[in-house]
Amino acid sequence: MAQWPLPPDLHSRIEGGPLCPFHDHSLGSRDGRIPRFDDSHACVRCVSALTEGRLTLDVHKIHRKYRRRFLEFWSFVDIGEPDECWNWHGNKHSKSNSTYFAIPRHWGAARQYSAPRVAFWFTWGDVGRLPIKPICGNNQCCNPLHLRARGVPHYFHNMHMTKIDLEFSSNKLQHETQLFLEATRDKDFKRFEKIQKANKLWIDFRMSSDKPVMLDDVIRSALLDEGYNNIQ
Ligand SMILES: [Zn+2]
Ligand SMILES: [Zn+2]
Ligand SMILES: [Zn+2]
Repeated sequence: MAQWPLPPDLHSRIEGGPLCPFHDHSLGSRDGRIPRFDDSHACVRCVSALTEGRLTLDVHKIHRKYRRRFLEFWSFVDIGEPDECWNWHGNKHSKSNSTYFAIPRHWGAARQYSAPRVAFWFTWGDVGRLPIKPICGNNQCCNPLHLRARGVPHYFHNMHMTKIDLEFSSNKLQHETQLFLEATRDKDFKRFEKIQKANKLWIDFRMSSDKPVMLDDVIRSALLDEGYNNIQ
């Protein structure tokens, strides 16, 4: 898809627009609409969070309306360490091998967007049509630390802390997606089969590989409980 050309007067006007994925950005909204820039359609609060270098992987910050899509999306990402590329294992266009995830947005007719773009929306924030660039050069990568949006400055006050936070929250997210897949399989098998359709090998792998991870988590949290905070 062609990049959206940034206008010279980017983000100079604000209008009311639909809710963004982060539910606290609609707090205080009486009409179910939130402030958005009228050109990029980015959520104004998401842009300021991004400028301040805040990101999140916490499903509880996601609006109910988006939660299922959020978990389904991350179920297809090989969530790794903060320094690694997090490759996409969901839908890809067979010819170009480019990634896609179905998520309609209000500003256009497209029904699907590239996985890194969706990863950006779900972590740094809903920046609408702003072009996304992988700084690692890997167009399958969904690691938020490897993604930048054009048109908005990103300030990383403390990259070291961001990485520590990300390590913790990505483990949590990994769990949430596991629970999501299991719950969907048990309660809504038709939907589960639809999810499987995107990449059956990957989903089957995810469903069978949780046990060692869980054991590791149990050991880690037991160590933390005992105060061995320095143990990796
Ligand atoms: Zn927002
Ligand atoms: Zn990467
Ligand atoms: Zn686990």
